[in-house]
Amino acid sequence: DKLTLNFTPEIKRKTESHPCYSGGCRNARMHLPVAPACNISCNYCNRKYDCVNESRPGVTSEVLKPEEALEKFLRVREKLKNLKVIGIAGPGDALANFEATKETFRLIREADPEITFCLSTNGLYLPHYAEELAALGVTHVTVTINTIDPKIGARIYREVNYEGVRYTGEKASEILLNNQLEGLKKLSGLGIVSKVNTVLIKDINDYHIEELVKELTRYDVFIGNIMQLIPAPGSAFEHMPLATQKELNDLRKKCSKYLKQMYHCQQCRADAIGTLENDRSAEFRKSVLNSGS
Ligand code: SF4
Ligand code: SF4
Repeated sequence: DKLTLNFTPEIKRKTESHPCYSGGCRNARMHLPVAPACNISCNYCNRKYDCVNESRPGVTSEVLKPEEALEKFLRVREKLKNLKVIGIAGPGDALANFEATKETFRLIREADPEITFCLSTNGLYLPHYAEELAALGVTHVTVTINTIDPKIGARIYREVNYEGVRYTGEKASEILLNNQLEGLKKLSGLGIVSKVNTVLIKDINDYHIEELVKELTRYDVFIGNIMQLIPAPGSAFEHMPLATQKELNDLRKKCSKYLKQMYHCQQCRADAIGTLENDRSAEFRKSVLNSGS
């Protein structure tokens, strides 16, 4: 696909070589699971597992310290010559663990001046950290936005913990939404490419997603990613009815009138490694390496 935004040559090259932002590319990406905590509570999540906003539910990735993440990166880079992207996508929220996220990017940038940095977040702390992300060399950020209506948000988010206060109901959703949108504006001003993930939740936000995507066109979002809800076992939404693949694709098609849509998301683990089609994370886990196999 042609890029329509006015990107620098570096951003254009990094976007075209990122397997999630550019549909046809077969490069490898690696998620570093350095961020275990989360600052909100989604009704489809169970914090025993990885963040559902970017992951397969029911999956648990082992958490790494920044130094361990660097070691793992060096090991994987040796083996995967097409490794082009390092991402932080949980297992909680990358920005709820900002010190670890920052240190991980800093260490890897010292070892590799070129590799693309991307990150995925619920967006609550995006306005706080957008400048620092740009300074660290992060060029691609995914924000999960499920609604632009706090009434709907009150049915999706159980709580939001912001600056030491626990919010619930519409107020919680309003704070989250304001920061998500403010965060997108900041990303655009800093020249960072943004993607918005939206979890399709039948009877809760399905009828509203087209309106949400229309609104996103005001924020320079590069691509949208409407994802199937696969609620975590033990979560409040565990028994929700699911949209069919056809309903999902029909909605994506409808929304692509306003904003380019992703059709190839694999809902990866927080420690995913490899191309989107071939996850090799199992080969590189601490537990596997320590057992000598
Ligand atoms: Fe779970 Fe992710 Fe929601 Fe946090 S943002 S509660 S980790 S799904
Ligand atoms: Fe890309 Fe989707 Fe995997 Fe994220 S979850 S790395 S957007 S394929």
